[in-house]
Amino acid sequence: MKAIAVLTSGGDSPGMNAGIRATVRTALTSGLSVFGIRRGYQGLIEDDMIPLKSTDVSNILQRGGTILHSARSEEFRTSGGRIKAAENLKSRGIEGLVIFGGDGSFRGANDLQLEHSIRVVGAPATIDNDIWGSDFTIGFDTAVNTALEAIDKVRDTAAAHDRLFIVEVMGRYAGFIALEVGIGAGAEEILIPETVTDIPTICRKLTERYKGGRTSSILVVAEGDEAGNAYEIAEKIEKHSGIKSHVTILGHVQRGGNPTAADRMLATKLGYGAVKALLDDAAPCMVGVQNGVINRHPLADAWTRKKDLDKLLVQLGSGLE
Ligand code: ADP
Repeated sequence: MKAIAVLTSGGDSPGMNAGIRATVRTALTSGLSVFGIRRGYQGLIEDDMIPLKSTDVSNILQRGGTILHSARSEEFRTSGGRIKAAENLKSRGIEGLVIFGGDGSFRGANDLQLEHSIRVVGAPATIDNDIWGSDFTIGFDTAVNTALEAIDKVRDTAAAHDRLFIVEVMGRYAGFIALEVGIGAGAEEILIPETVTDIPTICRKLTERYKGGRTSSILVVAEGDEAGNAYEIAEKIEKHSGIKSHVTILGHVQRGGNPTAADRMLATKLGYGAVKALLDDAAPCMVGVQNGVINRHPLADAWTRKKDLDKLLVQLGSGLE
């Protein structure tokens, strides 16, 4: 293998730049030339790529977002789109591709290898942390810390005005962010898609807390909770108990910002691990970090296996008063 390429795909996450940097520098140190593909698979189809030198990835480690930009590409879902993508890679002698993204991006990558023999390695990057095979995904820790900082501030005003705040965090399909943020912020209730949200019980507990002298409360809700979004939950609580609340939706603020130390370490390990996997001819695979060790897994594990929440955290999140 003489040349590889790297791209970022799907939702961006803080730490992708650190991953790009590690990929580029590991490749160069290993004697490979390396190309950066802009705008994910769409850029690959449109041949939007440039050779990267070591200095091209200087001073990006600490920055959120992705210098390569990210995108979603409908065309890449088609075999015609993937033919164009493979031709653009092959015309430059690129034999391997590192993809920072989520399970959707990995599915596309898998097709590219099966159909065109481009060797692909996925590095899990999503703030949602919902990819099996890596204890954490790039961006999760930063997103949790960003949300925590915001909720600490909400807590001040909630306490000052004796109010109930319902704070919605990201997590359409999984409660990883809500669970850690809720525990870290000392939320009175944590509402996640993996557990049943029981509005009458929540109302009873809130009422008891008010009777016991507590005057402000914070509920953290994952956007994908089965009981609804933060506004719907606020409405249900008021209807059931008469307790009014204020809703705060943190939204995309959780996707941005400088990556935390943990995300920089993780992304650096995964970028390095991805290039090593290409050199060892282990593709198609995804790299993950479990108990501090870089592991390789079949790419399909990313979408066929489900990562569970930490049972102890679920218990702590529901049990501490
Ligand atoms: P993520 O990688 O964060 O899960 P998406 O699901 O949006 O993000 O996927 C990113 C891109 O990966 C899509 O825009 C598409 O180009 C490609 N992709 C996703 N799913 C598939 C699939 N089943 N087959 C081929 N390509 C896919």
